Amino acid sequence: MALDQPMVSLIVGIGLLLQACVIGAFLVFVRRYQGIRCFLLGTIGLGMGFLIQALLPSSSLIATTASYIVLLSGLFGLSSGILRFIGAKNSARIYGFSWLIVASLLSVSAWRWAAPSLILSLAMLIGSLGMAYTAIRVLFQRTIPYQSASRLLAIALGLKIAMVVAGLSYVWYRQVWPSVASLQLGYSVLILLLSLLWTGGFGVMITQRLQCDLSALASIDALTGLANRRAINDYLEQAMAKWRRNQQGFAIIMLDIDSFKQINDRYGHQAGDSVLRHIGLVLSEQVRINDLIGRWGGEEFLLIVDAATVQQASFLAERLRQAIQNQPTVWCEQAIQHTVSIGIAVCGWHGFNETQLLTAADLALYEAKETGKNRWVVYERRMLNQLEANLALNNEDLVLDVDSSIYA
Ligand code: GH3
Ligand code: MG
Ligand code: MG
Repeated sequence: MALDQPMVSLIVGIGLLLQACVIGAFLVFVRRYQGIRCFLLGTIGLGMGFLIQALLPSSSLIATTASYIVLLSGLFGLSSGILRFIGAKNSARIYGFSWLIVASLLSVSAWRWAAPSLILSLAMLIGSLGMAYTAIRVLFQRTIPYQSASRLLAIALGLKIAMVVAGLSYVWYRQVWPSVASLQLGYSVLILLLSLLWTGGFGVMITQRLQCDLSALASIDALTGLANRRAINDYLEQAMAKWRRNQQGFAIIMLDIDSFKQINDRYGHQAGDSVLRHIGLVLSEQVRINDLIGRWGGEEFLLIVDAATVQQASFLAERLRQAIQNQPTVWCEQAIQHTVSIGIAVCGWHGFNETQLLTAADLALYEAKETGKNRWVVYERRMLNQLEANLALNNEDLVLDVDSSIYA
């Protein structure tokens, strides 16, 4: 069997349709990302364009025009899909319109002037310019963190553009389009090889995005949208490492809603959930961008703040206490009043590792509850002594060293 242009077009067309099956599988499993459907249609369009070239006679002007329109729509579909996926929705729309214009011009020109070589070359060049724009957008997008995959995709698109430009320069220079069969053969084969690269790049992009979303989900509390206990522990570990490296101090502020059980009993569990969400919001408004706020447990929140001194942490705690007291939750047109008790522990003063600090903040919070609630308390060594005395505990891991002069 001779490897002539129709045969090569057939192989390339089938190869592209097989790749469309892979993208289709992604679409079945990952429905929530925009752009995959468009990319799939683009790949099918390219595949169909090559099949038309393979099955209809190349001497027919209608067949050639039709195949190029379908090929172009494929290229535009790919570009729009990628742009939609990275969140450039408007550019994707402009793409749709541009394609309509180019396709109409292509068909009209082909009929009126019957100079297919020039028109078809121009059409491919315009399609490639579109891909160049897509490649640049993908390369410089900052919205989604998957640089490696986007580079792969951009390289594939870049090679495709280089290929078209080189091919067209050669053709224009020699004025031999489309009689140079070997050039067209090579072009088709290269398209197939490059399509493997851009389909692969797009697939990796989808996978990396899924991975990022899943790891974000694993560290977010579903009710409040704040960091969950796991994320707090990770952050605390990092803050501790930073403190060991350059003595950059931080404080732990542990908050517990006062008599929350009564809120649940009086207004219902859903109202209780709403209070948790509201307090989460109030707290988020009070902290700075590089502080971490998370839900530590049922109705407990934990803040890790960039505060080197006990005084700074206490000021913040007082601000938080007042904000929560002064901003009741509105639930079914009722204002639900609430207050919090707060325990404070500062790294370097009240503890030198995660366990010591968390225990210190917890003991201070316990004292705030015992001494009347709706207040903040800074950890003191006597609290641990008291606990040890009460429970007859002898836990060597919790030997906390405190300079008592700071509690003036
Ligand atoms: P205290 O002032 O001593 O902290 O009293 P409290 O009632 O706040 O504390 P307690 O530990 O007795 O009760 C906590 C309640 O929080 C019990 C539990 O049902 C409720 N709770 C825990 N998680 C959630 C939640 O996600 N949603 C709602 N609505 N309630 C929750
Ligand atoms: Mg409570
Ligand atoms: Mg509690």
